[in-house]
Amino acid sequence: MSVLSQPQFHCEEAAFDWLEKTLWPQGPVCPHCGGMGRIGKIKANKEARVRMGLHKCGDCKKQFTVKVGTVFEHARMPLHKMLQAVHLMCSSKKGISAHQLHRVLEVQYKTAWFLAHRIREAMREGALAPFGGVDGMPGAGGIVEADETFIGREPGKPKKRAFHHKMKVVSLVDRDSGKVRSVVVDDLKPETIRPIIEENIIKEATLHTDESAIYTKIGATFADHQVTTHSAKEYVRGIVHTNTVEGYFSVFKRGMKGIYQHCGKQHLHRYLAEFDFRHNNRVKLGVSDVARMERTVNGIVGKRLTYRQSSNAA
Ligand SMILES: [Zn+2]
Repeated sequence: MSVLSQPQFHCEEAAFDWLEKTLWPQGPVCPHCGGMGRIGKIKANKEARVRMGLHKCGDCKKQFTVKVGTVFEHARMPLHKMLQAVHLMCSSKKGISAHQLHRVLEVQYKTAWFLAHRIREAMREGALAPFGGVDGMPGAGGIVEADETFIGREPGKPKKRAFHHKMKVVSLVDRDSGKVRSVVVDDLKPETIRPIIEENIIKEATLHTDESAIYTKIGATFADHQVTTHSAKEYVRGIVHTNTVEGYFSVFKRGMKGIYQHCGKQHLHRYLAEFDFRHNNRVKLGVSDVARMERTVNGIVGKRLTYRQSSNAA
């Protein structure tokens, strides 16, 4: 039986049950007052216009569904279709375009486009532990590969092949954990790249790059910096190479070329978040399709909390 034949992808009631179980493992939580104790479920009723999944909080007397405060809240389509979209974006290696979602889910293209970006936002990983440890041990230096690539075209720039007209991405790969982290940058000056490397890699690590001058100064601040000289056709020297990060770029570029043809620079970081997320939660690292989907949905909650905390602080 394929995952997609499960009821939460076809039946609205099952979709609400699934999302409630995933987001409220200890029972419903009121998004208005945080109450948990006295929450009642109101039975859906079309004639009385009672929405699916409606709950009422005995503490603050307000009503809510599990969608409140999540990326699903304001989208105008049934929840079971949105869960299908999450599943499709999580399980296909190259991702799925808004056009495909529009056809498969039978919703308007614009609706599909907005939903896809909402799901990408849920996939965006927040502040994570820096790369370069071994088995999560601080102080033990692992290997981190760093490399940059070009994609598409900067907005407003002529259609030339020259690389400075293209959008630029720097990616880091932690060899020990097999995870990747990608950042969109405006240029490839050492002062632009330096803070990204510093914030994301521990000093005890060994940095592997090509001979690009971008990495020379910052490389010297790590336990070790090993370089392969691509201009002299040297790509591998023992364990020294940047093949892992280059392999990641090729998956990303194939996906972007085949599926996401007109990606604006303002959206590139979300597409990268999507590809990073799938790479970091891949089957090879022990993450099943089902677990990956649950992690995405949990990312939705994480975003909600971040939003609340920052709005409280303001
Ligand atoms: Zn309440």
